[in-house]
Amino acid sequence: MNRRERVLEAMGLGPVWRLRERREPPKAPELPRLPPSAPRRPAPQRFDPVPGIKGGARIDLADDRAARILKMEWPELKSAVKSCEACGLRKSCTQTVFGVGDEQADWLLVGEAPGSEEDARGEPFVGQAGRLLDSMLAAIGLKRGENVYICNVLKCRPPGNRNPEAFEVAQCSPHLLRQLELIRPKLILAMGRFAVQTLLGTEASIASLRGRLHRYQGVPLIVTYHPAYLLRNLPDKAKAWEDLCFARSAVAGL
Ligand code: URA
Repeated sequence: MNRRERVLEAMGLGPVWRLRERREPPKAPELPRLPPSAPRRPAPQRFDPVPGIKGGARIDLADDRAARILKMEWPELKSAVKSCEACGLRKSCTQTVFGVGDEQADWLLVGEAPGSEEDARGEPFVGQAGRLLDSMLAAIGLKRGENVYICNVLKCRPPGNRNPEAFEVAQCSPHLLRQLELIRPKLILAMGRFAVQTLLGTEASIASLRGRLHRYQGVPLIVTYHPAYLLRNLPDKAKAWEDLCFARSAVAGL
């Protein structure tokens, strides 16, 4: 066992995620091909209404605030998030947590909301769940910040890590949608119930949505478990591994 493995094991994150050489990863289904003349990454299409949390997080494109956010470039969007007071969460959090990584990444990973460590450091997934996420990414040859962008549905920490409320998700969703439009990833990995509900507008279980290619705003989307859930349900790590292999082969085929 090398030092990294010992550290991960000591943190209760073992067994360490490793690429298995011999086993063939599950094959991604055939994706509809773009016509040859189309750009490699077309701008995501906007549908009206945008899918959102059931009955909650619909983005009204006629709404001035959402329309303004959806025209912003990175610097403006970052400062809009920093100064946002559209829901009550900014009053109780330490700072906003915008997102981190390669702004032209092929992979966009979406979680739920900052926890206490993220709130303190201003970066998503830097606590225990984040360390698991980093080792999961390493297992498929990816690294935070390199061709990967990580963010959350909510940019502010809900007090006591309570679940996001529909109003908060609705107010924050234009920020997420604009991040998606600016990044134009090849694939979205929706991690956990809130990311899935927000992006797919369904309350179906993660278990029933895994293993299929969905779409959000025209961008392929794969559903998987939230890393914090995996820390509590170690046997499901194997399923998350399958999801990552599926995602990797989907990205390779796009
Ligand atoms: N859980 C999340 O969903 N996001 C984070 O940034 C940290 C924990």
